[in-house]
Amino acid sequence: MHSDLKKILISQKDIEEKCKELGNIISLDYKDKNLVVIGLLKGCVPFISDLVKHISIPLRMDYMSVSSYHGGTASTGHVRVNKDLDSSVNGCDVLIAEDIVDTGKTLKKVIEMLSVKGAKSIKVVTLLDKPEGRVVELVPDYVGFEIPKEFVVGYGLDYNEYYRNIPYIGVLKEEVYTK
Ligand code: 5GP
Repeated sequence: MHSDLKKILISQKDIEEKCKELGNIISLDYKDKNLVVIGLLKGCVPFISDLVKHISIPLRMDYMSVSSYHGGTASTGHVRVNKDLDSSVNGCDVLIAEDIVDTGKTLKKVIEMLSVKGAKSIKVVTLLDKPEGRVVELVPDYVGFEIPKEFVVGYGLDYNEYYRNIPYIGVLKEEVYTK
């Protein structure tokens, strides 16, 4: 285990098996559809990479980078687009691949944006879901693991941009935050 972690929440093996399971389900659900898997950078990278290896039907991949925008003290729920899609999703069946859903605000805005771009259908696959954190109505269509309201790192998830390369999901020791 990485020395900055106090515990491993989800092992590398469990993540691998989950990606396979989700990939198989998605392959069946999207048979004969015009699938575009959209990753939200940067956290999605390990997950989308492992997931698509288990999707056996034709698909395209594209990426967006968005950040939550705080216009004052509290979060306004506005989302700034740092990098938009490279290709059109008009008439496509879009599957957004996310690392974790917490408040749901980011995804809600991204879904609205993709809907304006003319996507035929929009669904969400997330590796992790923290349902207790939800402040807007958003139910991901495919969930890898439900986790408690705890800050996690690894497998794409960062703290100050570090720890994204850890191949499993863990919880940082308290002293790391006060370093
Ligand atoms: P939401 O709009 O659902 O609150 O935000 C989701 C985003 O917040 C995720 O894509 C991720 O960047 C960040 N986030 C939420 N919970 C965690 C967490 O436990 N660990 C890390 N590293 N990022 C998180």
